[in-house]
Amino acid sequence: MYHTSVIEINKAAYQGNLKFIKKLMGKKTQISSVVKGNAYGHGIEYFVPMAQDCGQNHFCVFSADEARSVKKAMKNEGTIVIMGMIEKPEISWAITNGIEFYAFDENRLEYALKVAKKLKKRAVVHIEVETGLNRTGFNSEQLKKVIKTLKENWEHLEFKGFCTHYAGAESISNYLRIKQQLVSFKRLQKLVQESGLRPEVYHTACSAAAVRYPSTRMDMARIGIMQYGYWPNMETYISYMTRKEGRNNPLKRIISWKSKIMSTKEVKTGEFIGYGTFFLASKDMKIATVPVGYSHGFSRSLSNHGRVLVNGERVGVIGTVSMNSFTIDITDVPHTKPGDEVVMIGDQGDLSISVSSFSEMSNQLNYELLTRLPRRIPRKIV
Ligand SMILES: *Cc1c(COP(=O)(O)O)cnc(C)c1O
Repeated sequence: MYHTSVIEINKAAYQGNLKFIKKLMGKKTQISSVVKGNAYGHGIEYFVPMAQDCGQNHFCVFSADEARSVKKAMKNEGTIVIMGMIEKPEISWAITNGIEFYAFDENRLEYALKVAKKLKKRAVVHIEVETGLNRTGFNSEQLKKVIKTLKENWEHLEFKGFCTHYAGAESISNYLRIKQQLVSFKRLQKLVQESGLRPEVYHTACSAAAVRYPSTRMDMARIGIMQYGYWPNMETYISYMTRKEGRNNPLKRIISWKSKIMSTKEVKTGEFIGYGTFFLASKDMKIATVPVGYSHGFSRSLSNHGRVLVNGERVGVIGTVSMNSFTIDITDVPHTKPGDEVVMIGDQGDLSISVSSFSEMSNQLNYELLTRLPRRIPRKIV
């Protein structure tokens, strides 16, 4: 195998998720697939061509290096938007290759204009406005100047999108703040409309906003976590399910993460297992080691707490997770032997380990656990 674990990506599950999201958004709202963070750990080079097979051709990334990976992975024509970091030399690369990017400060917009003039090719920009997240974006004063720049330089700057991002739409405790942001966005949108400029798409929603606040969907929703089969948090899931009483969860996890037993051994009552004194055998036990550790993204906080599936049983992680391995209790599945499958995320028989149960246990969000899965673990589309 040459690797100690493997990640499988389930295409049918992705298709199902995409179909559900499209139906939820309605016909007027285009979906952009957010593939920052190495496609939330799924692997850009595997995920992007699979998404294109399923008819998804619009992608959002954080930075120019990610845009480059998406471009390389694409098998058909498609659109790439950089929402975050792009350095000066990369701007000319982006313009040359028709890669779209956010402009959220004057320096970037001015520089893009300069390069577009020089290249004699239009820069395709999304103007991001500040509505309350206080991260990036133009305020209303700055926007007036931006409108002027866009009007005077239409032959160099294509005004493709007008957008913002919400400050935590997944939690009801942010309700007033999100509503305020929407009001601010509408006010800024009016400035654009009154100027006579017509961007092609207005877009504001991430997964949580798109589920909880339908009016944020507009022309395009930037969907990350949901396409991979997770709700942004439990609260969003419950708020959706209570509106659609009695249905099953329409989203399916598309990732599985599996390894194999490396070795087994017996331990007597009273022995400590693993480093230090984290786990004391209170009975005669049979244990096994799995060749996956925190360097592979299996969090140290799963020490003594994590669960994995072996031979159709859910068994516990015992002792501390080391850099390259962890130990499990196989006392109840004593026939387990080296080479047997171990499921860290996914299904085995009737049992299932989901990322969320796994990540709640290790106090990590789905987002964080997924994106920590190292690039070097091989991915396989199934
Ligand atoms: C990450 C991100 C998204 C997608 O968020 P999800 O919660 O994964 O849907 C959308 N917009 C911006 C600006 C983002 O950074």
